[in-house]
Amino acid sequence: MRIRSFRGGVHPPEEKITSQKPIQELPLPKKVVIPLSQHTGVPARPTVKVGDRVKTGQRIGEAQGPISSNIHTSISGKITSIENHPHPLGPPSLAITIESDGRDEHHPSVKHNNDYFKLHPNEIREIVRGAGIVGLGGAAFPTHVKLSPPEDRWIDTVILNGCECEPYLTCDHRLMIEKTYEIIEGLKIIAKTLEVTSCYVGIEKNKEDAIKAMREEIRNKANMEIVSLKTKYPQGSEKQLIEAILNRKVPSGGLPLDVGVVVQNVGTALAISEAVKKGRPLIERVITVTGRGIKNPANLRVRMGTLFKDMIDYCGGFAGKPGKIIMGGALMGFAQHTLDVPVIKGTTGILLLTEDEVNIEEPQPCIKCARCVDSCPIYLLPLYLGIYGEKELWRKCEELGALDCTECGCCAYICPARIPLVQLIKLAKQEIAAYRKKK
Ligand code: SF4
Ligand code: SF4
Repeated sequence: MRIRSFRGGVHPPEEKITSQKPIQELPLPKKVVIPLSQHTGVPARPTVKVGDRVKTGQRIGEAQGPISSNIHTSISGKITSIENHPHPLGPPSLAITIESDGRDEHHPSVKHNNDYFKLHPNEIREIVRGAGIVGLGGAAFPTHVKLSPPEDRWIDTVILNGCECEPYLTCDHRLMIEKTYEIIEGLKIIAKTLEVTSCYVGIEKNKEDAIKAMREEIRNKANMEIVSLKTKYPQGSEKQLIEAILNRKVPSGGLPLDVGVVVQNVGTALAISEAVKKGRPLIERVITVTGRGIKNPANLRVRMGTLFKDMIDYCGGFAGKPGKIIMGGALMGFAQHTLDVPVIKGTTGILLLTEDEVNIEEPQPCIKCARCVDSCPIYLLPLYLGIYGEKELWRKCEELGALDCTECGCCAYICPARIPLVQLIKLAKQEIAAYRKKK
């Protein structure tokens, strides 16, 4: 049988060293630091003050505007500060610190809904919004917005993304094996909310055990299909996933809903199921702590706001001399400068590389080999975006479609001249956005 995929992409070493390690529960942290900005959109507004006592699952930050997300405390205890704190995605930002009382007492709003299957789609959207659910694949886009397409858009398909194409990461892989039933329950709830009947789960072929478990779970469900996809990066990128499964192309500047599709990560489906059935807001997630720079790599279920240093200690500490600490995967992750940063909703993993693995080669002149062009999954010309970016010719970059770049990193990964193509394109995108805003 033909294994479906997309044009372009790269094949970095998989390095899935934790794929057979069952998910462990990280012990309750003594303290959590919960940023009010953990999602795409406007930061939440704090609804508590220093000195307040809070219970697990209580809302402590209120969404501001349509693209924003509620924030909840992941432990019970006392609010000890509301101030700027190091953030894993950028400069320090406002965060709420809670010292644990060790009791993990749940807030009364966290309660089971035995009649969840009777809920109207709008009631489900409201639960998802209230629970502060965002995309758990890394992008952290508020999920209730994706579940509320404009009335003039016809959605006929839901795709669950179980590709986890980034090297090293295995949290979604483990979830598909260990939480199979709950993920499919989440998929059913999404399908009901969007009133669609056609459902797919895309999984890369290197996760045969997950494919088998998910196929077993959906047997006899005529509207669902588990699709085995080629192991290739960035197979899990929304546009590439849609192309591979449905052969539909999201237009330049467009969104999946332009081709009738909503894509959700498998972890997000699980979070939706937990919120709708158990009344549980998004206060924990599974992450992969991995790489040759950590003694005991693991897949951990952790409370939001747990500090990176607590997880690294739990995994036995550094192995060798640390060279680089990355939040997320090797290709799209964010380098960290302190271990005092907390887990946020979009944290898929912590990758620890040793000093020997960090290769800082000086960029060389472009040799016009076109490997970057071949690898670009959305048909851009990264070498020219790089050349114009270096010369700060932002309008040229715009003409070449810089805003369509998904920052997947394939071009920079494959470039023999080690030109920092993604950084140059990111800069171009910022500059284009700035002058468009001014206009
Ligand atoms: S891969 Fe690098 S060296 Fe080759 S054409 Fe692209 S930018 Fe130039
Ligand atoms: S130009 Fe953008 S989308 Fe294309 S390969 Fe490079 S980072 Fe990926």
